[in-house]
Amino acid sequence: MNVDLTRRSFLKLAGAGAAATTLGAMGFGAAEAATAAHVRAFKLATTTETRNICTYCSVACGIILYSRGDLAAGEKAELVHIEGDADHPTNRGTLCPKGAALKSYVKADTRLTRPRIRRPGSDRFEDISWDEALDRIARAVKDDRDANLVERNAAGTTVNRLTTTGFLAASATTNETAWATWKVVRSLGIVGFDNQARV
Ligand code: SF4
Repeated sequence: MNVDLTRRSFLKLAGAGAAATTLGAMGFGAAEAATAAHVRAFKLATTTETRNICTYCSVACGIILYSRGDLAAGEKAELVHIEGDADHPTNRGTLCPKGAALKSYVKADTRLTRPRIRRPGSDRFEDISWDEALDRIARAVKDDRDANLVERNAAGTTVNRLTTTGFLAASATTNETAWATWKVVRSLGIVGFDNQARV
């Protein structure tokens, strides 16, 4: 008989078995242990699973976010749990302490969820819309590139270097996002390019 069992499914089953065995060792009866194992297996059964990448460092561990609430029905989704993705080749379900505490980071009162700006002469930051932020960034990059692009070096060789704008990207991305980011930055001629994992 073939059993189609992903690594993650296997760990779930193994976890349920381990819970039952541990409770048994602690003196609980078979009925209590079986109930606990049953509850553990279904604790997240009504949630929506969304795969993502940990935001913290360049290891880029795979995570699964569990949320309640139907976005398609206009409900507000609530994040209820985050754990390592056992099927992800980088971390195989494990997370370091920072990754394991990701839910606190997402739900922190101090977390910024909107772009902010401190206008010239002002002593405070104010929220702006994403559209305004992107328009301002695009305008600033275009103006700087028009004014400062180095098209040729001293020997007359075409180089198209832009050394007056820098770009800081996120390290916690998929290969595809990283590839697209690289293409955009280098096609502008930007030389100063790094990611937040080195900050
Ligand atoms: S879980 Fe830890 S090691 Fe993995 S990406 Fe996040 S911070 Fe880095």
